[in-house]
Amino acid sequence: MPHPFFSCQRVKRPTHPVHPARSVDATRSRFAAVRATWLPTYLLLCLLAAAGNSVASTITDFDGAVARGLPTGLRGDLPVHETARADATRAAAIMHVDTRMPVKLVYPDSGEASLYRGKVDGYPAIFTRYADRLDIFVNAAPHSDAYNISYAGEKTHPEVRVLTQPATSETLGDIVLPAIKKTPASTTGDRPKAKSGIRKPPEWVFSIFVHDDAKNVALNDHLSWWIGLIEAMLPAGRTMKIDIRRDLPGITDFAYTGGDTARKLLDWSAQVDAQFPQDEAGVNNKFLLFTDEWVSAGVGGIAHQGGDYGIASAKGHQFLAHEFGHMLKATHENAEIRYNGWWCETIMFATALDLRSNCYDYSDANEKLIRAYLE
Ligand SMILES: [Zn+2]
Repeated sequence: MPHPFFSCQRVKRPTHPVHPARSVDATRSRFAAVRATWLPTYLLLCLLAAAGNSVASTITDFDGAVARGLPTGLRGDLPVHETARADATRAAAIMHVDTRMPVKLVYPDSGEASLYRGKVDGYPAIFTRYADRLDIFVNAAPHSDAYNISYAGEKTHPEVRVLTQPATSETLGDIVLPAIKKTPASTTGDRPKAKSGIRKPPEWVFSIFVHDDAKNVALNDHLSWWIGLIEAMLPAGRTMKIDIRRDLPGITDFAYTGGDTARKLLDWSAQVDAQFPQDEAGVNNKFLLFTDEWVSAGVGGIAHQGGDYGIASAKGHQFLAHEFGHMLKATHENAEIRYNGWWCETIMFATALDLRSNCYDYSDANEKLIRAYLE
């Protein structure tokens, strides 16, 4: 990465004597003397430049820009050899951070994240800032695939992940179950709606249990943009929280593959109920198990329509949003294919096809259903 003050690549060793009239020996000894004093300083500067890596400098720039007030803009370093975009030779992305989203996103180890809306190189973007990380989802669909720029503190250079559809000729789908009545405290089914003006309406809490096999999956490729969609649909006065949970025996090590998938979901929801009794007043809970593998062959997820429990695989980038969509009463029938230079599938489309891109959006008809449910 080019340092603002000097570049290790720019410094070239002289290839010929500066004063040709002098003897070769005199010139050599002069070079040796200069090298003895200059080389250690040069190496030290290179080490300092490496310590101030492009990840750390972009995160520092981001924090500084946001602290000075929104909206704001900055340049974010990109990987040297990234291929996500046509202009791959550029070393920086132009970032605009517009607003902070009023949502709570809580990681088990890293505390609370801050989410922002904005644009990167003109495309809609969601920024997630937490711990020593900055993840940026950039929605370039439908012209090209969406991508995520990830600045992680333990790395020197950012990573760009292009979010493609799962490459498969199988028919992909999911399993939709009718809503079930559970314990009286459950939020499933006909929830009594909060009467505005009398009591604060319940907070929407989406608990995402990351299966032990999905620990290394980049969660924000599936999550941050979905949070952005739901936050935009929240009725006035409603708040939302997303709880990421890991390492919970019985829940995150649950054997979800094989056998009767509907039975599996029931067994898993019983585990959740046992550890997270839904007796908390003022909260509407939704629980999702996020897995690395297919839920079963060619099945990306399972959920109760309008229910509280679901399982979604990381094999497709819209599956998490799709299963939460069912839990919020969105339907396959209301999904659509959009065309704007290329085809993309809205989230609730029943069968994913890798020829099309993802829209990373619900259809207008499904958005209407979700908005009504979130009331
Ligand atoms: Zn479905």
